[in-house]
Amino acid sequence: MIVAAFRTLIHRDTMAGEAAPLSSLDYAGLKPAATAIFLDFDGTLADLAERPDEVSVPAATRAALERLVEATQGALAIVTGRPIDDIDHYLAPLRLPVAGVHGLERRTAAGARMTAAVDEEKFASVRGRLQAFVDAHPGLLLETKRGSMALHYRQRPELGDASIAAVHEAVNGSKGFHLLHGKMVIEVKGGKATKADALAAFMQEEPFCGRVPVFAGDDVTDEDAFRRIAVIKGISIKIGGGSTAALFRTEGTASFREWLGQLADSFDSRDY
Ligand SMILES: [Mg+2]
Repeated sequence: MIVAAFRTLIHRDTMAGEAAPLSSLDYAGLKPAATAIFLDFDGTLADLAERPDEVSVPAATRAALERLVEATQGALAIVTGRPIDDIDHYLAPLRLPVAGVHGLERRTAAGARMTAAVDEEKFASVRGRLQAFVDAHPGLLLETKRGSMALHYRQRPELGDASIAAVHEAVNGSKGFHLLHGKMVIEVKGGKATKADALAAFMQEEPFCGRVPVFAGDDVTDEDAFRRIAVIKGISIKIGGGSTAALFRTEGTASFREWLGQLADSFDSRDY
């Protein structure tokens, strides 16, 4: 029951307690015209891969997204650490509202694009130091995006601690950088914007404003958005294990994609 879910939300300390199974969320209580959907990408829609450029989203999931876009009249956005262009590539031909690079860039539902300013010079010097570390350790990967870089150690998990230390050393206390620890990745981000900020910005705009937000994500970088969702009385879904502030949990990307398909079926079966 969605109403029951809200009661749980209001009375629960979101930092304690266990997330309920996603199967206990009755999506019949979600109204297409009153729901805003926000989805992380990696580990949520797409399975994590050895390299960030090896991911894909099943055609059936892209089709479900398209149906959800139609049913909600466009109130579906991607909130991701990736650049917006990556998302356009992996979800083509869909072109959705996107908050990219953990909130550093955003494309609204109306198509307006905004990007936070970044100190390019300082950024380049951090990148230079990290590139030297990566070059010395085969298997590590430095992914560079505008305003952010990500050191991936998925192929060299034993170098996790050394990678984290190298990032701290490369940044060396420089102001204006924020570090995000993800799954087998540590990111350096210029600017303070977060996924939670991006979500809040979308919620000020059409067609999202006034709706019940539903946000799904898999990583520690999604937790601030889960907490923001709790404040604005929305529904948060954690994909996979680990402690979370989310209300609901599902075991992995496959079960979440299946749920999204069921939600699209449910929306399609109603007059919206
Ligand atoms: Mg993710």
